[in-house]
Amino acid sequence: MLPLPVLEQAAAEMTNYRGSGMSVMEMSHRSQVYIDIFDETKANLKRILKIPDTHEICFMQGGATLQFSAVPMNLIGKTGKADYAVTGNFSELAMKEAQKYGEVNIACSSSDKKHTYIPSQGDIKLSQDASYFYYCANNTIYGTEWKYTPDTGSIPLVSDMSSNMLSVPVDVSKFALIFAGVQKNMAPAGMAVVIIDKSIAGNEHPLTPKLMSYQLMIDSDSMHNTPPCYTIYILGLVLKWLETQGGVEGMEKIKSAKAKIIYDILDDSKVFIGSAEPGSRSDMNVTFRTHSEELDAKFVKEALAAGFDNLKGHRVTGGMRASIYNAMPFEGVQALADFMRKFELENK
Ligand SMILES: *Cc1c(COP(=O)(O)O)cnc(C)c1O
Repeated sequence: MLPLPVLEQAAAEMTNYRGSGMSVMEMSHRSQVYIDIFDETKANLKRILKIPDTHEICFMQGGATLQFSAVPMNLIGKTGKADYAVTGNFSELAMKEAQKYGEVNIACSSSDKKHTYIPSQGDIKLSQDASYFYYCANNTIYGTEWKYTPDTGSIPLVSDMSSNMLSVPVDVSKFALIFAGVQKNMAPAGMAVVIIDKSIAGNEHPLTPKLMSYQLMIDSDSMHNTPPCYTIYILGLVLKWLETQGGVEGMEKIKSAKAKIIYDILDDSKVFIGSAEPGSRSDMNVTFRTHSEELDAKFVKEALAAGFDNLKGHRVTGGMRASIYNAMPFEGVQALADFMRKFELENK
């Protein structure tokens, strides 16, 4: 979801952005009117996430998935090795991609319990000479979320935060690199936000495509070629909306309260079963099921008829998944909770 006020403002500015006589879609990325949008968006993101001056924000195309390749192409060369935490579908894909470029050590994995939990710090087996340690902060499909930032000592920390970015404060100084495909919590699809410690860039494999080089992205301020201008503009509107919600600190309180509404139902229920272990539960993606696939299908069908879209779980997990990203209003969560209670009474 995108926040309704953002969509309304975009609609109002669609054909003539603030008297410029143009839509943002039509602007040259080198025009002053667009540069102002770009610079303000970057400055707001820097302020909202308290990004230190050691780090740079890059806007890169290819979504989160291209970062699965860009990370090893740019970073693994230092020692030829990297450590990966495999806690779900996306970290597994990232790990497999990294294997093309170097030696990969699986530092920890939750595959023994179908990715229903997040390994503890003690479970992480680091290599001494890893170029970086990689983990996915929120496992969108399995509905688990890291509640702590792994301590990796001197090994640079890399994280995919595609599905929980801007929902919690992050101490960016602890990370060498954070990336997020924007379409879950930030903007329309088509871009990844990359926040990179500038000192880690510049060691990419010689065959790294130009547009995947972090150093080039930093040096060109993400403008080596035409960036996804409209997506960046919408991100700017989303950031302004986020500030009206109290920024990431405000969002943290809101998202915890929203998720608790659904988790309380799961904990009380005799029909619904939460998929993730309680200590590892995601506040963005609540995964659950019933005792049978038939009843799961009935739930999804009746929910759809009642106006609840996208509740079917991912095809690799089955069951159900309620994604409650930042823009989902309280009323939406409350309505789902009421529907679940009604379904429970009718299907005991
Ligand atoms: C959705 C998602 C991806 C994939 O994003 P694309 O932009 O489609 O490549 C990767 N990682 C996580 C955690 C996701 O939620």
